[in-house]
This record gives sequence, structure tokens and C-alpha cells, in this order.
Amino acid sequence: MKVLIVDDNDENRYMLETLLRGHGYDVLLAHDGLEALDLLRSSGAGLIISDILMPRMDGFQLCREVRADGDLKKIPLIFYTATYTSEEDKEFALSLGVDQFLVKPDDLELLGKTITQFLAEPKTHVENPLGDEMEFFRQYNRVLFRKLEKKVADLVASKKKLQDSEERYRGIFENAAVGIDVVDANGRFVRVNSSLCNMLGYSEDELMDLTIVDVTHPEDIESSEIQHQSLVRGETDSYRFEKRYLTKDGRVVWADVCVTALHGPGGVYAGTIGVITNITDRKRSEEELENSEMFLQQVVENIPDMIFVKDAENLRFVRFNKAGEELLGYSREDLLGKNDYDLFPLEQADFFIAKDKEVLASGRLLEIPEEEIDTKLKGKRFLHTKKIPIFDANGASLFLLGISSDITDRKLSDQESENLRLQLFQAQKMEAVGTLASGIAHDFNNMLQAVSGYSEIMLQRKKEGERDYSDLQKIYQAGQRGADLVKSLMTFSRKIETEHVPVNLNQEIDHIQSILSHTIPKTIRIELCLSSDLESIQADPSQIGQVLMNLGVNARDAMPNGGTLPFQTEDIELDEEYCRTHFHTISGRYVLLTVSDTGHGMDKETLAHIFEPFFTTKETGKGTGLGLATVYGIVKQHDGHITCYSEPRHGTAFKIYFPAIETEGRSATPTFDAAIRCGTETILLVDDEEVLSELGKALLSRFGYDVITAGNGKDALEIYQRERESISLVILDLIMPVMDGRQCLREILRID
Ligand code: ADP
Ligand code: MG
Repeated sequence: MKVLIVDDNDENRYMLETLLRGHGYDVLLAHDGLEALDLLRSSGAGLIISDILMPRMDGFQLCREVRADGDLKKIPLIFYTATYTSEEDKEFALSLGVDQFLVKPDDLELLGKTITQFLAEPKTHVENPLGDEMEFFRQYNRVLFRKLEKKVADLVASKKKLQDSEERYRGIFENAAVGIDVVDANGRFVRVNSSLCNMLGYSEDELMDLTIVDVTHPEDIESSEIQHQSLVRGETDSYRFEKRYLTKDGRVVWADVCVTALHGPGGVYAGTIGVITNITDRKRSEEELENSEMFLQQVVENIPDMIFVKDAENLRFVRFNKAGEELLGYSREDLLGKNDYDLFPLEQADFFIAKDKEVLASGRLLEIPEEEIDTKLKGKRFLHTKKIPIFDANGASLFLLGISSDITDRKLSDQESENLRLQLFQAQKMEAVGTLASGIAHDFNNMLQAVSGYSEIMLQRKKEGERDYSDLQKIYQAGQRGADLVKSLMTFSRKIETEHVPVNLNQEIDHIQSILSHTIPKTIRIELCLSSDLESIQADPSQIGQVLMNLGVNARDAMPNGGTLPFQTEDIELDEEYCRTHFHTISGRYVLLTVSDTGHGMDKETLAHIFEPFFTTKETGKGTGLGLATVYGIVKQHDGHITCYSEPRHGTAFKIYFPAIETEGRSATPTFDAAIRCGTETILLVDDEEVLSELGKALLSRFGYDVITAGNGKDALEIYQRERESISLVILDLIMPVMDGRQCLREILRID
């Protein structure tokens, strides 16, 4: 069977068509009543299903036409409608000869079922529907009018709704706390709300005469334009960014701007709508924060102490200031992310990490008064460090802050001043001992003069072998030894008159060396290391000889098993730095004499006392303890400076600094040879002190004399008997063993 579907709505038509074909029917389709009538007349149909509201000819009119047509009036007709749904509409339809009146159901299955059911047992419609034209139109108009009324009512209602919502939107627009603008395609303001007006300081009318560029901060115009172009080109629908506006009175307003494109008919770009939030306060506080952070950063950077931060978990460096970089000798990039083991020797790193852990465990500040650290560029440094834990809001340790001051210089200068203090103490001690010694020496000298003088007179009256002769001799000898002692003491306390002449230290060393080489054991090797170009010093030559002698003898005593004994001279400049650390020295040019040995050396305790008179470590009879005291006195007398370096088993070195003479020509130093006339004769020198006879021999040889020595009167006499032809002068010591000077003289006079 063919079914004709009549509906102006394409979707509805298609839906019904599918449904009916599904049930096995042939389907004809018409868009309105007129088309339906044509189809019915040309093709015929077994059933009509029609909508009511349609253009040109609606369902009511179609029904009337069908029922009035002799050929078609038997065809069953079903109405289905979504518009005419009232009971009156239904009655009107049925009165027109409609067989079934369906309200458009949501459920298609139900519609299908109803149609199938209808076809199975067709209802018979009104046989002779409204014949009267007038009556039809009266009813038809009523139905339409009702519909119209409802439409109008609906329309009124929906217009009110529209107004309401528009008003609502206008309220939102006007009262919004944020600025809102609508801008046309040329950037000109079309609508603005009062918030925006307030923000920019313009009235609404004033803004209407401006473009968006007029109120944008000059520095942000370019970046705004770039963003804007992406909207114009349609690359994006909206964007959001921060920009600065300029108010009417020239203030800067920071804003967060959200811009959405508006499109006209056909999708043409028509302008934008923007939501503008004033974020000036936020920006300002951000700026302030930034400033205060920068300020803090500056403070930390410029603190001269090393400041570092480690993360509490891995103890890796996360922050360093400039002083830290400079102290450790690494750049910040090299330091960050490293831990102590990456940077320092194992032992030090262990120490640092242990302290870190202590701080984190205790949660309290820890002060480390002194720690050692090896740095890349500055070597070993000493630090005073404070370590402080930094917590989060829950009290867990987040970071460890460290502040280290470099105390190396202070520590060294502490050591220096301690040194100076010791030197001062030493000098004061020597001064006090000197005063004491000179006081004693003066009185003793007088007493000893008496002892020696009177015993000598008494000895002259007696012959050897007579009663008391040898006792008197002992008194005389003791007096002499006492006088020697006193002389040493007086030298130590600088109470001896001396005469200073320009002296070349090398020459003095040369002479003393020749004496020493005769008197010290052959196992000791004397070495000379003399500067060929040495400056002269202003000195008493015999005292310089004594200094060299005393040092040489001490060295000999320190090397009973042999060794080397170097004498060394050089010119040296003592600078301010040296003088700052050495008590009582003046900067300038000096001649430095170094006498060292490879002997047994000294411990600290001995070293502290060596220059004191009568200090000796040698057994009684061997040492007087006056050797170095004399040296000390002589050096002081020459405005010199003496130091001693020694360690047990490692030998000893004495350094003596004599001020150099300030003359241009060094060769200006007059030599003895030039100053004193010389001779060629032979001299017999008799002395039981081997050292003295050697000394005399050395001295006299320098003046051109041949010198023969003898250790006592008896030997001297033998030599004289043998060589009296050549001997022009005999020099006799008085007190000697075997035969004394006096007796020897008597014997010689007897010969010649
Ligand atoms: P003495 O030689 O009579 O003991 P000094 O004044 O010459 O007196 O020396 C004092 C002390 O200094 C010596 O007893 C010795 O302990 C020590 N001393 C001096 N020179 C040396 C040296 N070259 N090596 C080791 N010790 C020395
Ligand atoms: Mg000595």
C-alpha cells in the first residue's frame, strides 16, 4: 500500500518515511496540502498522514479538499501535530473528516504502532463533514485565532524575558568591578563601563572620542598591537596579557586584559570586547618585593664574610656570595650543586659535614671558633664559622645557612705579636742581666786588680821553689782568670771602650779561620762561603775576631765527632716587614754573617738562655757560659742583631746582622796593611794558651813578621839557643807551666 506523508519539515518527513518503509509500505512525500492534492490525483494513495501547520495549504484545508473530492474522499487521513494540540483543535479536525488525531509523540515506535493498528482496523470518519463553507471558515478562523493569541502571548512573554536578560546584562556591564569595553575594528571605543571610565579618569563621552592606542602606555603600544593582529587575522579568538594604560592625568595603570574578538555577519572581524582588571596594586607590591629582594641580595653580596646556603637534605651548596667565591677561588657556577667532598680534602669535608649534621640535629646555631680550609688560590686559611638551620612553616629544616669570616690574618698577627712579646721579654731580660753584670764587674775588677797586682809584686820578690811561691802563683793565676771573666762581663754589658773603624768582615773571617784550622780537630771541616762584593761595616776588629772565635769554639764543642763549620757572608736588605716582626731592628742595608754547624743542636729551653752570662750546659771547668754573652754584647755594641736557629740533632745556625757602612765606594775601606807599617823580622811568641799563641801568630804574620811559637819557657829557651841569630824579638807570657816567663827571660838574657 502507498502512504502519502505531508509535512513541510524535512526532518519529520524523513523520519516518518523511514518508519513506514520499515513496516513495508510504499511512501509518497509532499511538502504541503497543494502538493499533496496533486500527488493524490496523479498517483493515488491508500493512506494520508499529514501535519496541520504548513505553508500555502494547511492540514485543515487539505482535509476539507480531500473529503469534498469524489475520487479521494474515501482515503483515510491521520493528523499528527505539535502545534494544534487542544481538545477543540481535535474536535474541529474530526468534524472535518479526519480519521485519527495524533499529537506528535516523542516516541517514534508509538507512532508506528498507532499507524499499523489503524490500518488493521480503519476507523470510519464523519460521512458528510461540514458542508457549509461559512461554518468551516468560522470554525477554522477560531482555531487559527486561538493559535495566534497563544503565539502573541508567547511572543510577549519571550520579549519580556529578553528585556529582563538584557537588563540583567546591562546591570552586570555597568556595575562590574572590572572595566569592560567594546572596541570597533578601528580600535575606537564603542561602549565602555563606568569602572573603565574611573580607571582611566575619562568620562564615557570622552572615551568615545578616543581609540585604544590613545590610552595605552607608549612602551606597551607595540606589544599590544602584535597581540591584536593575531585576533584580526583570525589566528586566535581571544588572548590575555598584562599591559599599562595611561590615565587622563598621566598616571600609569597596570591592567590584566582579556580580549575576545567580535564577528559580524559572515564572520567578518568587527572589533573586540575586553575585560580590564586593575592590577596596579599587585604590580606595585610585586615591584616592592622585587626591590626588597634585590636590596637583600645586595646586602648579602657585599658582606665581606663568606655566606653560603646548603640544602638540608643533601648538604649541597645552593647559594654563595661574592666573598665566598673569592675565598674559595671558584666561580658561583662551579660551586652550586657541589658538596664539601667535591671541593675540599677528605678530612676537612668530614669535619664540615659533621658540623652541618650537628646543627640540623640540634636545630640551633653552632659556632665554630676556628676551622681550617684548603682554598684553591689562597692556600690554607682559618675560618670562624657560624652555622644556622633555616626551617619551613612546619618546623622542618629546609636549609643550612653558613657565615664564615677569614681569621687567618688576625691569627697570624696574633702569633706575630706573641713573637714580638717574647723578643721584648728576652731583650728586657738581657738588659737587666747586663745592668747587674756591669755593676758587679766594676767592683770586682777593682778587687781583682788588687789581688793580681799584689800577688805579682810578691812573686817578683821570691824565687821559684821558695816557700809560698807556688801558692802565690795560684793566687795570681786565679786573679788573672777572674779579670778575664770580668772583662767578658764588661764586654757583655758594653762597658768596654772600643774604637770602630771600617772593617771588611771577609778579611776577619779569613784570619780567624786560619787560627781555628790549627786549633780545632781535623774532623771538622771549615767552609767559607763569602760574598766577593761585601759591604764594609763600622767595627772593632778585635771584637769581631772574638765573636768569630767564640762561635767557632762553640761549634767545635757541639761536634765532638766532627762535621762542617761554614762561615757565610752576604749583603742583605732588611725591609719594613722584617723589622715589624723583629724587635729592635731598623730597616736598611746589612751585612749578614751566618755561622752554622752540623752539631748536636739545642732544645728550646736551652735556646732561650744561651745569651745569658754564666749559662752553660757544659761540665764544670769546660764552659764558662760567657762566650755567647760576649758575642751578644759585641753585636749590640755594633748596633747589630743576632738570632739563633737550632734544633736538637740538626745543628745550629747563628745569624748576625751588622749595619753596612753608608758609603758609595766599598774599596774605600782602609786596610791594615796600608794603615800600619810592616816588618820582616822573626818573632818568638811564647804562650801556654795555644789559642792565644795562634792568635798572636796570625796577627803578627799579617804585618809581615815570621812568627815562631812556644808553649812554655823551657821550649822557648831551646828555640832561642838554636835560632837566636834570626830572632829579633821575644814575646813572653808570664805565668806558664814548666818554666814561667820571668825565669825564661833571665835565661835568655844570660845567653844574649
Ligand atoms: P759555654 O760555651 O762556655 O757553655 P756559651 O755562652 O759559649 O758558653 O754557650 C752557652 C751554651 O749555649 C752552651 O753551653 C751550649 O749549651 C749552647 N751552645 C752554644 N753554641 C752552641 C752550638 N753551636 N751548638 C749547640 N749548643 C750551643
Ligand atoms: Mg762557649
